Formats: sequence, C-alpha cells, structure tokens
Amino acid sequence: MRSVSDTWTWLHDAAAQREQAGLHRVLRPRPAGEQTLDLASNDYLGLSRHPAVVAAGIEALRAYGAGATGSRLVTGTTQLHHLLELALAERLGAESALVFSSGYLANLGAVCGLAGPGTLIVSDSGNHASLIDACRLSRARVVVVPHKDPAAVAAALADRCEPRALVVTDAIFSVNGDLAPLADLHAAARQHGALLLIDEAHAVGVTGPAGAGAAAAAGLAGQPDVILTLTLSKSLGSQGGAVVGPVVVRDHLIDTARAFVFDTGLAPAAVGAALAALQLVDEDRLAALRRTTLTLAAALTRAGVPVTAGAGAVLAVVLGDPATALAAQQACAERRVRVGCFRPPSVPVGQSCLRLTTRADLTAAEIARAARVLASVVGALARDGRLGR
Ligand code: PMP
Repeated sequence: MRSVSDTWTWLHDAAAQREQAGLHRVLRPRPAGEQTLDLASNDYLGLSRHPAVVAAGIEALRAYGAGATGSRLVTGTTQLHHLLELALAERLGAESALVFSSGYLANLGAVCGLAGPGTLIVSDSGNHASLIDACRLSRARVVVVPHKDPAAVAAALADRCEPRALVVTDAIFSVNGDLAPLADLHAAARQHGALLLIDEAHAVGVTGPAGAGAAAAAGLAGQPDVILTLTLSKSLGSQGGAVVGPVVVRDHLIDTARAFVFDTGLAPAAVGAALAALQLVDEDRLAALRRTTLTLAAALTRAGVPVTAGAGAVLAVVLGDPATALAAQQACAERRVRVGCFRPPSVPVGQSCLRLTTRADLTAAEIARAARVLASVVGALARDGRLGR
C-alpha cells in the first residue's frame, strides 16, 4: 500500500537539495513607494507608474470592471482590446494583432497553434522558457540548435521530412540581452519554406523605429512569413501579451490556440494601461534608454565589473556559481540597489549571473551609485576568490 508520506519525503528531499545547491528561491514582497534603486525590473521606459498610464488603467477599470468577465470569445473582448490590437499591429507594421493574457501564453498560443505533429520546430538553445515550454507542448518534432547559428537552422530545415516548419527565436535574449541574427534567420527560414516566429519581449519599446522592435529594425516588419510575439509587461509597463502577424494567422489562433480560447481575457485595466503606454513610446524615450544603458555599461566597465552589454536594456555580470551570485545580489540589496540574480535552470550551470536592467528615467547620480555599489560587491567577492567557480 503506497502512502502520501512518500510524496512529502520527496518534496523535503528536493527542497534540501535545492538549498544545498544554492537554488532555493524566496519571494520578497515589495512595499509601495520603496526607495530602493531598481535595476531588476523590466519597466524599461519607466512607464508602469507614468501618470497617463495609471490614469488610463483606472479609467478602464471604472468603465469595464476589475476583470474581463470571460474568455475572449465570450465576454472578454472589450472595445479596448480591439483598439490595443489595432494599435499594436500598426506600430509593428503588421496586418493584425491578437492580445493574450500574458507573453507566456502568447508564446504557447502561437507555437502550439502553428506547429504540431507534421511540423518541425527549430529552436535556439538560448530561447526563453515560455518558447521552450511551447515547443514541448506542441508535440511537434523539435531540433534545438546552437545559440545564434543561422547555418545550423538552415541545416536542420534542409534535413526535415515534415511538410511544415517553424523557426523560433528570442529577438533580444532575456538573460544576456544579445540580439538574434534576424535577417539571416529569416533568409534561412524563407529558403527552406519555414515560418519564423520572433519573441520581441525585450525588443518592443526598446529598439526599432518608434520602438517597433528588432524585426522591424532588421527590415522584417510585415513580412508574410514572420510572426511576432510580445509582452505588455516590460517596456509597456503593464501586463499581458500579443501575437502579431498576418490576418490568416490571427484567425487561425482565435479558432485553435488553446491558450487563447480557454483563458479569461486580459483585465481591462491592463489593456487600457498598455494602450496608453504604447502612445508614450517615442524616439526621445528610446534614446534616453539607449543613453542610460550605454552609460551604466561604461561606468561598470570603468569600475572593473565584468559586464556584457547587449542590444537592449539588459546587462549581465556573470559570476559563476549560484551561491556567489545570490550573495552578490543580497550584498547589493543591503545597499539598497536591487539587481536580478539568474541561476540554473534560467542559465546554464556555471553561468549564474547578476542581471541588471536599465531604465530610460535613471539619473546620472543613480548610475554612478549603481556602479559604485556593484564595484564594491564584485570586488569583495573577487578578493575572497569566489568569482568564476
Ligand atoms: N518571452 C520572453 C523573452 C520573456 O523574457 C518573458 C518574460 N520574462 C516572456 C516571454 C513572458 O512574458 P510575460 O511575463 O508577459 O508572461
């Protein structure tokens, strides 16, 4: 006779192993109005607290209520959802957009809607977990190719026996902030009759003309064989996600994407806030974000902190083992600087890092303070011989 105590033993053993490996995670409730210098959020343009964005969220809440009240196909599509979809499609230069209740679900919906048995998916090894999970859930054959390797993508596509193929990649990779070779990936996909799905989570509102993202910057806006996914929770400071591309894809997802059909629509307040935020994404804010990113990267390098700067607003300081990265994050927090700490499985073993994000509204004094704190924290770890272990 089996007993549930086997399950408790398993849970306790697994927790002990995670603790020992430095992989235990703790939630830290964030008080309102906190004074900490934030280099960990994805609020790249500082729009989550912008008065116009907050006001639009409140107005939507008043007009439509706290929740969407149903799935998108029943009662969960408000006029605001419709307006946001039109605005996203227009900004990204595509035929249409479809809003999901998160970026994670947009990826599940797009990949599972477009791929299944009879499709080969070719996926970059550095892709975000939501794309990886989407590939697994799709039941398509999946080939994982080395990071940013269009030749490997082409070889995988040339080898296939499936009638359909889908190439999936982050535009700007979420951990190191590096940019995918989108034009070459598109050329490989097109040559071999595949669709290219690009996750613009860290690129929309960060790069490209008027913040249209990395695909637009690479000249791929509106291409019929390119599908974009994005989140409303980073540069747009709200919550939710979207798939952007040809109308035929949108129609297909409305009928078949389970992450769309069986999920309650995105809350109206989030839709209203995202719509207001999109209107605030302009060249001035994008230029300010580029400036703060370059200034912080340069200040860290001058201060001797080994930082990798990418194409977007993400900077990574690779420290090695998870315990060291965690200690560095805690030491920064004690000095009121919040940075992200990425450990396996978010990064490969040995690559645990501090992940810093910049914001368009960081001041010169805040950047100087961040560089000072990080230099002293990383310097202390180096003196203790704890780096790169
Ligand atoms: N894709 C990427 C590349 C991401 O970084 C994230 C968020 N961390 C997502 C998708 C998921 O978006 P959301 O948080 O809106 O679910």
